[in-house]
Amino acid sequence: MKVCVITGGTRGIGFATVQAFLKEGYKVVLYGSREETVTKALNELNNDPNVEGRWTHLIDEEAINKDFAEIKEKYGSIDVLINNAGISDSTPFLQYSESLFTKVMNLNVIAPYVCSHAAAPIMKEQGHGVILFTSSMVSKEGQPSGVAYPTSKFAINGMTISLARELGKFGIRVNAVAPGITFTDMVKALPEQMINPMIQAIPLKRIGEPEDIAKAFLFLASDQASYITGAVLPVDGAMMV
Ligand code: NAD
Repeated sequence: MKVCVITGGTRGIGFATVQAFLKEGYKVVLYGSREETVTKALNELNNDPNVEGRWTHLIDEEAINKDFAEIKEKYGSIDVLINNAGISDSTPFLQYSESLFTKVMNLNVIAPYVCSHAAAPIMKEQGHGVILFTSSMVSKEGQPSGVAYPTSKFAINGMTISLARELGKFGIRVNAVAPGITFTDMVKALPEQMINPMIQAIPLKRIGEPEDIAKAFLFLASDQASYITGAVLPVDGAMMV
């Protein structure tokens, strides 16, 4: 049984991805920020025996190294890591603070670094592995407020391409999915007058569903994508920002 570790797996894109990988027959380890949200997600999955939940702090390098070693020991491998946890932000630049910038960068960039760094030696030893990231369409276009968020996603694209180049020789593929606007809590929180013009700017005339993104992860994790590495795959209905 292949093993997939997914951060930010308790809701939204991550939760849909957990469901898709379980359906595909993977053993899944999902991470969330708190025990309550992890327990809630596991309950929603009817406590499926093929899924385990953890809430280790994703930037705690020592704890994540220990976790990943435990996962490898318990299930025999880590075949796929999906670095998905992330926070968005839209604070205007003149009101920005270093602490807000650091908070966004910690979860959106440092955590994927820590998790990838913990997974890579395990994947190298196995001779195969897939590391995936959740980037964003703002990683191409930037956005007119909330500077840390697009900055973090540009960094994710850089990490994707660089790690693909560095880890390819170990049989590790590294790719990212760049969702457009996707119907999760992050987006549900936006007012309708903000969402409607966005739909008009999407050639497919609908907002993406978390399942649309999950399908892209499933493809990139699979052997169907065996010669794809270093790619940032847009899954955005060709939205133009
Ligand atoms: P969401 O808010 O629904 O879910 C975020 C997930 O991240 C949750 O599972 C949560 O547990 C986890 N998380 C949040 N703070 C955390 C913390 N401090 N420590 C550990 N985990 C934490 O968001 P989503 O829309 O599903 O976003 C998932 C990813 O997709 C993010 O990286 C986001 O940047 C990206 N993304 C989302 C959209 C969109 O329109 N929704 C578009 C582009 C990219």
